[in-house]
Amino acid sequence: RAKSEGRNLYRFFEPAMDAIVQARRALEVDLDTALPRQEFDLDFQPIMNIASGEIIGAEALMRWHSPARGTVAPDAFIPVAEETGLIVPLGEWALRKACAAAASWPHGMRIAVNVSAVQLKSGGFARSVISALAFSGVPARQLELEITETVLMDESKTVLKTLRQLRDLGIRIALDDFGTGYSSLGYLRRFPVDKIKIDRSFIHDMGNRDTAAIVRTIIGLGNELGIVVTAEGVETEMQLDMLRDNGCEEAQGYLIGVPSKAADIQRLLKARALHSQTG
Ligand code: C2E
Ligand code: MG
Ligand code: MG
Ligand code: MG
Repeated sequence: RAKSEGRNLYRFFEPAMDAIVQARRALEVDLDTALPRQEFDLDFQPIMNIASGEIIGAEALMRWHSPARGTVAPDAFIPVAEETGLIVPLGEWALRKACAAAASWPHGMRIAVNVSAVQLKSGGFARSVISALAFSGVPARQLELEITETVLMDESKTVLKTLRQLRDLGIRIALDDFGTGYSSLGYLRRFPVDKIKIDRSFIHDMGNRDTAAIVRTIIGLGNELGIVVTAEGVETEMQLDMLRDNGCEEAQGYLIGVPSKAADIQRLLKARALHSQTG
């Protein structure tokens, strides 16, 4: 009886499952042709030093302008690209494109690039980073690679070795979405990290007393360990004031600037650099 019920259920769900599988296939097919068809682009979001108010660089954020689907957000296609392996050439493209853009920024401006676990585990990642820097002429100390805890979770020797190698070159490593993973604190002990980026869900909820306490604690932890702390998703003056009062070094979010086209961010960075020289 249980068996026949199972069969009935299967018959009931099958069409829905088929639709999901097919939609997913279609997405994979579209994604696969998107790179040669040059449908990807990068936006850049400014990052501010809270104490000085200076813009110190920007983070590259990938966009997919699909003719069939419109603009697709990275959260919708990066996981698929990770599963199909496309993220390796796509990530390499992003790295080169980001470095090329940063090459025409004012002196010392940082460029932050997101890196997937799949990229770091694939052989040759360090080599592709070195090549992107050499090709663009951007100094290693101006490049920041943002990784998430999933990168560190399997504790593979390759990943640790690669991170050390990159850091020895002067490249900075930032731990993105900090606080949302499983054992954030342990990773800080075992892996070479220069910066932590507090996940925007904490910043959004900072009006809550407990959340505010967590944010203060993360900032204190960073200060104790000599790790720079950046707050993500800063949208209000009140949030920025709280972060400043608690000694948070950097902020990023719609209040400071939305992700913008390469030409616009270049103009912004140049205007700020000029301003800081003269004023
Ligand atoms: P992320 O690295 O944590 O990037 C920050 C995300 O927060 C971006 O979303 C940004 O647009 C958004 N954001 C910035 N300020 C605010 C704010 O004030 N309020 C709110 N509500 N959101 C804000 P986006 O561009 O959709 O990117 C989502 C995620 O996709 C990124 O999170 C990153 O994990 C991933 N991603 C983006 N580009 C790349 C890439 O080139 N490679 C890889 N592997 N992942 C990428
Ligand atoms: Mg990031
Ligand atoms: Mg983040
Ligand atoms: Mg994220």
